[in-house]
Amino acid sequence: MTVPMVDLKKQFNDIKDEVFEVITEILESSQYILGPKVLELEKKIALYHGVTEAVGVASGTDALHLSIEALGIGEGDEVITTPFTFFATAEAILYTGATPVFVDIERETMNIDSKKIESAITKRTKAILPVHIFGHPAEMGEIAVIAGKHNLKIVEDCAQSFGASINGRKTGSFGDAGCFSFYPSKNLGAFGDGGMVLLSDPSVAADIRKLRNHGSKGSYRHESVGFNSRLDEIQAGVLLVKMKRIEAYNERRRQNAALYGKLLSGKVERPVEKAGCTHVYHQYTIRSSSRDAIQKNLRENNISSVVYYPTPLHIQEAVGFLGYKKGDFPVAEETSEQVLSLPMYPELEEASITRIADIINNA
Ligand SMILES: *Cc1c(COP(=O)(O)O)cnc(C)c1O
Repeated sequence: MTVPMVDLKKQFNDIKDEVFEVITEILESSQYILGPKVLELEKKIALYHGVTEAVGVASGTDALHLSIEALGIGEGDEVITTPFTFFATAEAILYTGATPVFVDIERETMNIDSKKIESAITKRTKAILPVHIFGHPAEMGEIAVIAGKHNLKIVEDCAQSFGASINGRKTGSFGDAGCFSFYPSKNLGAFGDGGMVLLSDPSVAADIRKLRNHGSKGSYRHESVGFNSRLDEIQAGVLLVKMKRIEAYNERRRQNAALYGKLLSGKVERPVEKAGCTHVYHQYTIRSSSRDAIQKNLRENNISSVVYYPTPLHIQEAVGFLGYKKGDFPVAEETSEQVLSLPMYPELEEASITRIADIINNA
């Protein structure tokens, strides 16, 4: 048995007819940029999250970048974030001229440790940027209290957490901006790049709409220097087809996670779901001090697995100029040495999970 990390083809086959129908409709309409499908998707996703504004952009990275910029953050400002995430989180901060300030993570969920945030706040701090890593919500209640006390903005990186919630409230609806990625393998994935910002302040939303379109509201009048960062109409069409099924997709991920959890013995640490939280398992990530041996064993049995993330951001070569060193964030560093993400997607079969658990249990 061969098991990949994700199987996008299975999902495509299930929705093929609807996808071809919507793409044909768009091609025949010849409205390829900022047409009715982008608007419809923005409305649907805003409604799903209980927010009033949504702006489709070209990627999750751009969603973060344009949000930080639209919130007035840039040169000389600091943004507090986690070192245990995909590199784009820090890149987006750096694009604006601001400086990422890392804070260690909490071991259980691997999200930024809210107890360690306050000691990192300086006069220059403008925002906190939590990432809901692997689909488990960060501690938004605690983060909101800190942000309120210090008058900071909150930008949520929801690239891995579409549909995740805390006491029924969805990630992306807590902060000043909720940033989503529609990269193909994300929980809601397009057939190419895409992203979206959710927010409740119409004036910031209007700024992001301008920024995504060369600083213009249209008619070739440019009020600022912006970017070309629009969500593609065809991708929006595909996402509308998948959006109808997102609850079912996430429920299947949760069922798969429950089965992994039941079958895996106590030899490895399984992911936790904190009280009140709904985890959407973008990744199913186990921990073990013999991680490399487990991965080797899986590989020999044709089972894929990936280390997300082998190097925390503070010790990435690209950000050496920030001056961090190994040892600065011991929890993130140890986590990077122990984590292993197992195959996870809605269509993953029970027999595959059983086989994977057997291999890990008998290693
Ligand atoms: C995928 C991802 C991004 C970037 O999204 P893109 O759409 O690929 O630009 C940012 N942050 C996190 C945590 C991600 O997983």
